[in-house]
Amino acid sequence: MSLSTLKDLLIEELKDLYSAENQLTKALPRLAKAAQSEELRAAFETHLEETEEHATRIEQIMKQLGESPKGKKCKAMEGLVEEGKEIIEEDAEPGIKDLALIVAAQKVEHYEIAGYGSARTLAELLGEEEIAKTLQQTLDEEGKTDKLLTELAMGLNLEAAAEDDEEEKSEAPASSSKSRRS
Ligand code: FE
Ligand code: FE
Repeated sequence: MSLSTLKDLLIEELKDLYSAENQLTKALPRLAKAAQSEELRAAFETHLEETEEHATRIEQIMKQLGESPKGKKCKAMEGLVEEGKEIIEEDAEPGIKDLALIVAAQKVEHYEIAGYGSARTLAELLGEEEIAKTLQQTLDEEGKTDKLLTELAMGLNLEAAAEDDEEEKSEAPASSSKSRRS
C-alpha cells in the first residue's frame, strides 16, 4: 500500500496496532502463567480482557473507515513478545522473575501508548473526532495498566529487598539490630 493521504497513514497505523493487540492476546496468558505473584497474574488476566476489547475497537474503527484491519504484521510487537518469551524461559528467583516480567510488559505498554497516541492525533488531524475518542479510551487503559505495573513492581521490589536483608542478617547475625520483625 502506498501512503498518499493522511487517511492511508492512519489505516497503516491501525493495522499495525491490530496486529500488535492480536499478538498480545496470545502472549498475555503465557505471562500470566509465568507470574508467581497472585496480583501480577490477575493484572495480566485483566489486561488480556482489555486487549481483546482493544482489538474489537480497531475492527469497529476500520469498519467505519471502510477498510480491513488485517494484512500487516507488527514486527515491533513480535520482538517485544520474543523478549517476554526469553524471560519466561529464564531460570530466576521468583521475585526477580516477576520483576523481569513486569519490565517486559511495560515495554509492551509503552509501545502501545506510542502507537495509540500517534493514531489518535492522526484521527484528530483528519477531523475524525469519534475515532479519536475511541483511540483515546484505549490509550487511557494502556496508561492505567502501565501505572498498575509500576505499583506492582514497587510492592515486589520491597519483598525482594526484604529477602536480601534476611540473607544478610543470617550471614552476619550480630551486625543488625534495626531489622527486628514485628
Ligand atoms: Fe491494548
Ligand atoms: Fe496493553
